[in-house]
Amino acid sequence: MKWLALFFFGVIFSGGIFVSHAQAQSARQTQTFDTSAGVVKITPVYHASLLIEAGGKNIYVDPAKPANFSGLPPADLILITDIHGDHMDPGSISQISKSGTEIMAPPAVVKTVAAAQSISNGETKTWNDWTIEAIPMYNIQRGPSPGQFYHTKGRGNGYVLTYGGRRFYFSGDTENIPEMRALKNIYVAFVCMNLPYTMPPDEAAQAVKAFHPQIVIPYHYRGSDLNVFKNDLQGTGIEVRLLDWYPKSD
Ligand SMILES: [Zn+2]
Repeated sequence: MKWLALFFFGVIFSGGIFVSHAQAQSARQTQTFDTSAGVVKITPVYHASLLIEAGGKNIYVDPAKPANFSGLPPADLILITDIHGDHMDPGSISQISKSGTEIMAPPAVVKTVAAAQSISNGETKTWNDWTIEAIPMYNIQRGPSPGQFYHTKGRGNGYVLTYGGRRFYFSGDTENIPEMRALKNIYVAFVCMNLPYTMPPDEAAQAVKAFHPQIVIPYHYRGSDLNVFKNDLQGTGIEVRLLDWYPKSD
């Protein structure tokens, strides 16, 4: 019996080696959301990089180093929010592209990523079964020196993506701006928080209270205390999901 047990242990163990790639994939914290057009799956990849899967199409937002795309599908659409290296990374874009991959980005990004179609703050586009709205993202008080901002108004885009009647918001790099507070009917919000570039967790919580999504997922939060954010939203009825956006590379 002992040998038999060892034999099965050996099979399971060696199986483990063969499936390690699949295991690395299953370790990803994919979130599943129901819509009237079917399921939308959203997978955190790294920092601001994420994958959206629905209706057989794959959309990436801000694919950028050091995100690990192994085991993930090629992109049908890539959305980019801004010019900084944690959002716009030509190397990652080419890594996940295939023939026919479309890219949408604000004009400041199109200067570098020439293959992208331009979409500016306030513009709406339709792409397959999705509606894509470009939302402002900018600093109102923080910058590298007085009178300057890390993100100037009009340069970058947050996005609201609608599929099957559900609205998904990706904030990009922003502070607690009026355009964010005025968002309506958001089902899931991905909201940034990190200093000095965007905002601290308590300001992010104030903004989220104002537009009141059903679910909020902090992303682009390096170095922030997410418990502050979660505690601030206690009792509001907004579901806070904390995910690991900084996985160790495997
Ligand atoms: Zn950023």
